[in-house]
Amino acid sequence: ETEVPEDHPRHASLVTRHRIEAGVEKGITSKQGLIAEGRGEAFDYLLGERTLPSADDAARAAAATLLLADRPVISVNGNVAALAPGETVELAEAVGADLEVNLFNHTDERVRRIADHLREHGADDVKGLAGDGEIPGLEHARGVVDADGIEAADVVVVPLEDGDRAAALDAMGKTEIVIDLNPGSRSPRTADVPIVDNLLRAVPNVTAHARDLADASPAELERIAAEFDADAALDAAETAIRGGSFADEAPSDGGAGPA
Ligand code: ATP
Ligand code: MG
Repeated sequence: ETEVPEDHPRHASLVTRHRIEAGVEKGITSKQGLIAEGRGEAFDYLLGERTLPSADDAARAAAATLLLADRPVISVNGNVAALAPGETVELAEAVGADLEVNLFNHTDERVRRIADHLREHGADDVKGLAGDGEIPGLEHARGVVDADGIEAADVVVVPLEDGDRAAALDAMGKTEIVIDLNPGSRSPRTADVPIVDNLLRAVPNVTAHARDLADASPAELERIAAEFDADAALDAAETAIRGGSFADEAPSDGGAGPA
């Protein structure tokens, strides 16, 4: 899909950029999505473009939470659809969740394009077109959801969600799993399970944990979900950003890294 050489040191990041550009060209990603991507890249760079152990714990807790859910829904926006459509469909299948297209900058046309794009990547049923439900407390256009989708869900996965909407979903009593590279952003701070990791790594990782936990008892799943400490995971990510990942690579004389 791109001409980026495999051995380029910033291969993953360049492929990601191309996918987002292609998403904008296809009319599935908004221009604001480009800005969100740039912000995400900066945080991923600071994290060392790796999955922290704390983010892996979060992914496992997310998998357990999804397997325990009665009505789990994965919210899909233009960045998610452009970056990881097939991986998102696979996660939905692995945990028995519904997919719902839910856009901050909503247009029916873009919802339809994203739903088609997800179907091209193997989704059967995609919600988000009915728009007959709402998230209370938000301006109308921002709060439109499907009544039998996000409105009725007990657990929602909201990758790259806006802070106000994450707070409004929390106020509805949803258990929220947020994927966001910025541990200081309001959305992961609102989440029951914040996964501070790149969506491209986090989504397949939650799927892998879900497959690993497929035969676990409800008691075992509940133990995994209960043992996860959201504040500790956010602190671990912030610590990594504040020097951990640079310090790992600092020269042995300690001369060049940030103080
Ligand atoms: P708020 O505090 O309201 O959430 P914000 O500055 O975080 O404000 P957003 O619109 O939520 O604004 O920004 C997009 C978020 O998505 C950023 O936190 C960014 O780090 C994150 N992000 C972008 N690309 C990715 C990605 N590929 N994987 C994970 N997170 C990403
Ligand atoms: Mg945010």
